[in-house]
Formats: sequence, C-alpha cells, structure tokens
Amino acid sequence: MSDDPETARQIDELSRDTRPLLVCDIDEVILEFVRPFIGFLNAQQLHLKTDSFRLHGNVVEQETGAVVEPERVSALLDGFFAAQEDWQTAVEGASECLQRLSAGAEIVMLTAMPHRHRDRRRNLLDKVSFPYPLLTTETAKGPAIHRLRGKTDRPVVFVDDIPHNLVSVQKSVPDAGLIHLMAFSELVPLLPPLPVGITMAENWQDAEAAIAGRLGLSY
Ligand SMILES: [Mg+2]
Repeated sequence: MSDDPETARQIDELSRDTRPLLVCDIDEVILEFVRPFIGFLNAQQLHLKTDSFRLHGNVVEQETGAVVEPERVSALLDGFFAAQEDWQTAVEGASECLQRLSAGAEIVMLTAMPHRHRDRRRNLLDKVSFPYPLLTTETAKGPAIHRLRGKTDRPVVFVDDIPHNLVSVQKSVPDAGLIHLMAFSELVPLLPPLPVGITMAENWQDAEAAIAGRLGLSY
C-alpha cells in the first residue's frame, strides 16, 4: 500500500526545516509495545512466547499452548492499536531526553502503523508528552527520511528497534546516524545481526548522548 497524499504533504512541509533532524520510531522506542501487548494478550487468555523475534507463531493459547492462527494474530494487533490508549505508556526517559534534544533539532516521529490508527496515536502521544509531528507510513522508512531531510545536507539521526528499518534508512541516507533502541530488552539478544555502523543503545540516557554527539548538539 502506498502512502497517502497527506503524508507526502506533511513530509514536504517538515523538510523545509534546516535544523539537524532526529527521526524516532514509536513502538519500543517512545512507547512501550511488547510489555503492554503481552498484558493485552493475557487479558484474553493468550500468551506471547519471547524465545524468538517474531509475533506470528509466538502467540499461543494460555491453557493448551496451541499456536494462534496468523490471521487472528493480525486481528489482535489491530485490536491492540485500536485500544492503545488503554495499554501503552511512555518508555522511561524518552520524553525528558527528547525535550532536551528539541532545543537544537527538528524531531519527527515516524511509525509504520496503518494510517487508520493515526488519530488515536496522536491523542496518546500528546497525553504522554510527545508533542512532535507524527508521520504514519505504510511503506519503507528510508525513502521517507531521505525526503524529510530536504534540500540541505543537515545531519540526520534515526532511532528504531527493528533491524530492517535501520537498514532501509542506511540505504536511502548513507550518512545518517543509526541507533538501535528497544525498551523490551529481553528480546535484544534474539535480534538478527545488525549491519556495521549501527549504535546499540541500552536506554534513553545512552541514546541521548549518541544523538547529541551525532547531531552536533551541546547542552
Ligand atoms: Mg518499533
């Protein structure tokens, strides 16, 4: 599915900013995702196995251990995003770090969630102190960030938990600073290997120092 004209219009508007650009993914970076999704599943007598890095195939019936069908997992995920305001909370330190970074950088939040959940997400982000512009994309993140950078060669940093998103940005914006951050740290050892050049941050304190250094911010 391609992005809608409204997203393209928003990107063009944001790309006129000439300050250093920080683009943050949302789930597992700004908002807790895995932990609350486990709670959402448990409330329906389901369990998420966390011994490999995937959702489909890892959701099982609590009582029998039977694997939940992929279509139902997709529906559960959709139901979770529809009810995100009841479940998701801010990742520790994220709001404070971004507030400090916003003094010298343009901050944009970029999520791969379907467009139809955008209003709910906007409400939740405002409620937990992330007032930055929000873009939802149903296509690869690399080309979106290439366009967001605009006509200048301003420094760019991208933070995400999913390796293929970091790789997508590495391809489209080769000089971007790339930071891996995942709030649910138990899954980090199960990630596929990350390419060279990606900084692993354990928490927002780590990430903030790496971002500020890469964007040339001092405060
Ligand atoms: Mg994410």
